[in-house]
Amino acid sequence: MTQTAESPSATLRSRMRGDVVDATDLAYDEARKVWNAGIDGRPLVIARCLDEADVQAAVGFAVEQGLEIAVRGGAHAMSGTSVVDDGIVIDLGGMNQVHVDPDTRRALVAGGALLGDVDAATQAHGLAVPAGLVSHTGVGGLTLGGGMGWLSRLGGLTIDNLVSARVVTADGQARVASPAENPDLFWAIRGGGGNFGVVTEFEFALLEVGPMIHFALLFWSVDQGAAMMRHARDVIDGLPDDVNVMVAGLNAPPAPFVPEEHQLAPGYATLVVGTGSAEHHAEVCAALTDGVPPLFEFATPMPYVELQKMLDEANAWGLYAYDKGCYVKELSDDVIDAVTEHFPRKTSPLSLVLFYRLDGAYSRVAEDATAFGGGRSPRFGMFMIGVCPVAEMLPGEREWVRSMTDSLLPLSADDGLYVNGNSEFDARSSVELAYGPEKYARLAQIKATYDPHNVFHRNANIPPAVR
Ligand code: FAD
Repeated sequence: MTQTAESPSATLRSRMRGDVVDATDLAYDEARKVWNAGIDGRPLVIARCLDEADVQAAVGFAVEQGLEIAVRGGAHAMSGTSVVDDGIVIDLGGMNQVHVDPDTRRALVAGGALLGDVDAATQAHGLAVPAGLVSHTGVGGLTLGGGMGWLSRLGGLTIDNLVSARVVTADGQARVASPAENPDLFWAIRGGGGNFGVVTEFEFALLEVGPMIHFALLFWSVDQGAAMMRHARDVIDGLPDDVNVMVAGLNAPPAPFVPEEHQLAPGYATLVVGTGSAEHHAEVCAALTDGVPPLFEFATPMPYVELQKMLDEANAWGLYAYDKGCYVKELSDDVIDAVTEHFPRKTSPLSLVLFYRLDGAYSRVAEDATAFGGGRSPRFGMFMIGVCPVAEMLPGEREWVRSMTDSLLPLSADDGLYVNGNSEFDARSSVELAYGPEKYARLAQIKATYDPHNVFHRNANIPPAVR
């Protein structure tokens, strides 16, 4: 009599509460998709975890079977690290619960929640966690790399508001990471990415924000770019923390508030978000346009939760994307020249350049308080993002991103890189350079403690130090 060996999926299925999906399931093709349509991974199994015990079972199974692990939060990593050929995807999408305690101003956020889940639950109490700009981004990957957005000046990075976390490490144990318990792990997960285990729950301290904020989009032509940025840098420098100004190179949206003749035209913009008074927000907008009249401007109060969803559609799933980034300490003439030379060469109307302002609360955190890849002096986090509606355009936009990066890196702050803003790492922008030699060495030691065999390596990888 022949015995049929149980399939890996069947074995794992018997150990988990959540579903296990493989290539024989109708759900497989949807389940293996990630945000970036340019990534086409075909895992052996997808473990759709529902709780921490499922995550422990999936990690244990992967180690036992020698399967490569991809951890999937919101699946937004442009690099595609949240899916893997022939390995196991530990999919946290079913773990998206958020519990808010308005009295202690704390939120418990499950490891697979999206930013929109957190915003909805916290804004019900007029509270918020500083995070990113697009509500379908995952809290997991965004937080573990740092997390920057509209509230970075007011409240710092997402990690600066992390109080504790629960982490399933490579040995299958669930550990608390906090200042009191496993403080080395707590330091490492605040910037060190997915290297140290699967975070099943984040605990955040919350800020009072909204529910209404003030938003403005001011838009200039490509020809006005250099003048607008030279002027904007003086206005941005020294603003109080309750206003954030993002500078961008992008195409005007085809929105009703954009005059028809400018819809989809490439140009430069400032996006101005105020969490304080309407008057102050209006003063900042007036200062930004003083002497450099924009093609059009649009200002409105809006709920904070709407601000957080405003860019969702423009960044929908199914686009082909590639990004690189660096920090620049200021919008120097050289930086402006490099940007205005390269920006008009993009071929996709969706590609863009973003300057996230990082100062205020961001800069009040000590350099070595977290593992974050980047110094804490005032600066701009620069993202150069090629985004294409069809696959055929991606190679050209990838080259556009790379050539702009080549011209910006020599002008950049020489103190790290944002791991969440780089689709790939190479000799000139390596993971070691992202953290700098001291943090990198410390991270490698902590990695050797919690993941000595580099089980979690589909990330901006920090191999364990040899002991
Ligand atoms: P995933 O692809 O699911 O995960 C990426 C990696 O993170 C995984 O490979 C894994 O290593 C790790 N990971 C995820 N969850 C966990 C977990 N719970 N435990 C352990 N490891 C985990 N970044 C910003 O800072 N600000 C922004 O405004 C911003 N906007 C963005 C908008 C878009 C449309 C996109 C595509 C990206 C944006 N990013 C932004 C970058 C974003 O921070 C990263 O892509 C991040 O990795 C997304 O997290 P995720 O959980 O969605 O990704």
